[in-house]
Amino acid sequence: MLRGVGDLMPIGEFSERSGLSPKRLRSYAAGGLLVPAAIDSASGYRYYSAGQLREAQLIHELRSAGMPLAEIASLLRHRSLEQLDQWAQQVDLEASQRHEALHVARRLLATEAEPITANVDRNLRRDAMTKLHAAARTDIGRVRENNEDAVLCLDRVVAVADGMGGLPGGEIASSLAVALLEVAFTGRSLDELEAAVRAANWAISERAAEGSQLEGMGTTLCAVGTTADGRLAVVNVGDSRAYLMRDGSLTQLTDDHSVTAELVRRGELTEQEAAGHPHRSVLTRALGSGPSIEVDGAVHSALVGDRLLLCTDGLFNEVSVEEIRSLMEATQDLRAAADALVERALSNGGKDNVTVVIAEVGAA
Ligand code: MN
Repeated sequence: MLRGVGDLMPIGEFSERSGLSPKRLRSYAAGGLLVPAAIDSASGYRYYSAGQLREAQLIHELRSAGMPLAEIASLLRHRSLEQLDQWAQQVDLEASQRHEALHVARRLLATEAEPITANVDRNLRRDAMTKLHAAARTDIGRVRENNEDAVLCLDRVVAVADGMGGLPGGEIASSLAVALLEVAFTGRSLDELEAAVRAANWAISERAAEGSQLEGMGTTLCAVGTTADGRLAVVNVGDSRAYLMRDGSLTQLTDDHSVTAELVRRGELTEQEAAGHPHRSVLTRALGSGPSIEVDGAVHSALVGDRLLLCTDGLFNEVSVEEIRSLMEATQDLRAAADALVERALSNGGKDNVTVVIAEVGAA
């Protein structure tokens, strides 16, 4: 193990020269970082080589940047500059998300006394060209003991969220998601809607880190908002869905982020196999799972009379897409359609919470 013996220094000297305490050096070594060049097998005394000083400095800088030890260990194995660039990007992204969340918090605080949406609506009406008329319904279902779904139903944005993580986390995560959307999205653009989703993700992740009771909580979020140029911005994370009903046909606007849906997209599973698959509710993306999140976003043109359906998996796991389409076609009354969909999910089993929003595009 001993190479150039003259090169070695005891841990005390190395600690002084590197500026890292012996305690820190031992914890690094336990994590596979800066492993002593030699250990005296009789006394257990640790020796470092002069060449390790540069490594120590590198680790110190990465720790100052907030990188976890395991990530640093992997970087030191692969020594990739690209990895450093990626981390720098991630830090920028996280900073902007925190900034966004603080901005939202500021608005929440400043407008505590009055309803936040009233202001926003007044400002919006000047330039908005579309407006949503919407009806929503959520139901606990026939099996579950609590309803972890949440719903948002405004004239500029509609959303559904399906919380997970057990009591009380799931409910908190889904209601946080729609609350953040309500305050952070004013009806401007897809960028604004995506930023609102990232702010919600940040808020949920932070909240989850606060208490062990909330650990592991998360939620899906699927939302459609109007934009200042009169179109529709659609965002999605997880396996809730948005559909567009136009001229009697129903088109899914979102991709599900579940293990089975990914397999279907790769051609490794058929739709039928996926529908009955035991892992169909295992998600590949959810809000609350970490500081950064990949958000699907798209802009669609809107025609007056278009109808949107947003729903949680409690609907489409019980009711086939063709059944959904024909129930929606059967009535122009939004509330009656929302009721009919939920009632059908319940009569087909109601094994999960079920939530639907039906929104019709109208002129402002
Ligand atoms: Mn569900």
